[in-house]
Amino acid sequence: MHYTEITKTDVTAKAANMSDYDTTCTDFSWNDARKLIDGLPDGGINIAHEALERHVNAGHGAQIALRWIAKNGDCTDFSYREMSKLSNRFANVLRSSGLEKGARVYSLLGRTPELYVAALGALKAGCIFCPLFSAFGPEPIHSRMEIGGANALVTSSRLYNRKIKALRDRLPEMNTVLLTDGMIDGCDSLAALMNAASDDFRTERMELEDKALLHFTSGTTGKPKGVVHVHEAVVAHHITGRFALDLKPGDRYWCTADPGWVTGTSYGIIAPLTNRVTMIVDEGEFDVTRWYQILADEAINVWYTAPTAIRMLMKAGREAARSHDFKSLRFMASVGEPLNPEAVAWGNDLFGMPFHDNWWQTETGGIMIANFASMTVKPGSMGKPLPGITAGIVELTGNHATEVAEPMTIGELALRPGWPSMMRGYLHEEERYAKCFLDGWYLSGDLAMRDADGYFWFVGRSNDLIKSSGHLIGPFEVESALMEHEAVAEVGVIGVPDETAGERVKAYVALKPGYKTSDALLLELLGHARKKLGPAVAPKEIVFRKNLPKTRSGKIMRRLLKARELGLPEGDISTLESDEQ
Ligand code: ATP
Ligand code: MG
Repeated sequence: MHYTEITKTDVTAKAANMSDYDTTCTDFSWNDARKLIDGLPDGGINIAHEALERHVNAGHGAQIALRWIAKNGDCTDFSYREMSKLSNRFANVLRSSGLEKGARVYSLLGRTPELYVAALGALKAGCIFCPLFSAFGPEPIHSRMEIGGANALVTSSRLYNRKIKALRDRLPEMNTVLLTDGMIDGCDSLAALMNAASDDFRTERMELEDKALLHFTSGTTGKPKGVVHVHEAVVAHHITGRFALDLKPGDRYWCTADPGWVTGTSYGIIAPLTNRVTMIVDEGEFDVTRWYQILADEAINVWYTAPTAIRMLMKAGREAARSHDFKSLRFMASVGEPLNPEAVAWGNDLFGMPFHDNWWQTETGGIMIANFASMTVKPGSMGKPLPGITAGIVELTGNHATEVAEPMTIGELALRPGWPSMMRGYLHEEERYAKCFLDGWYLSGDLAMRDADGYFWFVGRSNDLIKSSGHLIGPFEVESALMEHEAVAEVGVIGVPDETAGERVKAYVALKPGYKTSDALLLELLGHARKKLGPAVAPKEIVFRKNLPKTRSGKIMRRLLKARELGLPEGDISTLESDEQ
């Protein structure tokens, strides 16, 4: 599988925020990065101050911070000054409801302006903010609120009636519910309280290590974990936004992730605002025409999205993009799942630039490995570590982690801890947290390889590695080979027990519209994979599915494919998006 490397012109490289990777790595220190943070006038730090007040104080109050596209297509703009005042009001509402520094404020909202105001207002008030994805059912909501000890919730009356009302008795610490619309017994009207509140608020002075955010992981490999981040994380959000997403003040930027997941907060609120861009927020769900329209009509400069969405656009075919003009686009990035080389090449063809894959986790709080704007892209690779980040491939033997020197050796992807946005704990799971660290490394739970040029290549989750007749096979490699076939829209690959081989490779394939399942196509796909991968690695078995089971954040749940294959319990499926089999 060889894809041509995509090099950048000198002009593109020079124009990037980080024009020379090696020099920046040599010169970089987190202490210098901390100096990019404004800090509060009376000392201390607060993420919300870096996102809003610092720009208003510097004379940029009139710049649009958020352009909100409602489901029906109507747009509303909010300037940095307006966002500052609205979040001040929200902070005052929290205070008047008795919520002090350290209180846990949750949101259960679609992508509406209130969500952004609540996030920034809660941070200003020194509360810990936890956004929940609005499509969760009542039980996943309850367990996340219970784990975090929620004190307050901002939601809509529709979501309250459908999901919260019945479980309120089981949340004794949650005394405040603020409704963005309407009025229900036992709740307060956010609009009424906001109207009555002052738009002045003295941002709470926080220490670097004070808790700021609580995020739950996607639940791809098991029960979601509650991950705690602190105010100092803003240093990493800011610098990674600048280096890895190439955000420049004034850019029009679209992050398609929902704030219910860490990407939608770190790179859907904090990094863009601290870098003073104009964020485009779409309330609507994925829709091919709508997305191409937003990219073109909103003159997006920087677009941060995910492999599932890219694959859906690919599935829809080029025709769908034809009538649009993407001349404003300057940089495209992807995260959340391995990005198949086919998708990088497709992006390059259609938009004239590649998708820049980057890797990180809820735990790391910010981007750790990335394809940078000035750097040659090797399709299929996650890129190189951020300046200030030491990443390694380690072998785990006994109770030790030893770095592997030989290029292209599969091992666990590990990082030297110490960057500002690193998690400070898994809530109520100290033992699990402690297990993430060994011999001075943070162990990510992912398997990867590093090539001789220092690029990292994702192999799979450590639980997903397939051991077949003495070969170690990463599902990503097999999936990417199948993705190259014109009929294939999506693939999930697992290992299933096999008497002779130990495990054999099995692939679940969803087809693009216009293709029908048939024995002939099945044989063709088996042959295609065999040709690309060789008989030792190619799947022995392929089955067709209409859709693959995915998390609500868009990740293929291989553990579920496997559990179903083996007739085992499905485990925690709180983040499962409905899947049609
Ligand atoms: P859980 O930890 O609950 O099983 P999760 O790991 O999917 O869920 P997240 O923190 O949202 O939860 O996702 C981080 C993971 O997503 C990474 O550990 C990695 O497996 C995968 N991932 C993210 N970006 C990439 C990428 N660019 N390439 C490959 N995998 C990626
Ligand atoms: Mg994880």
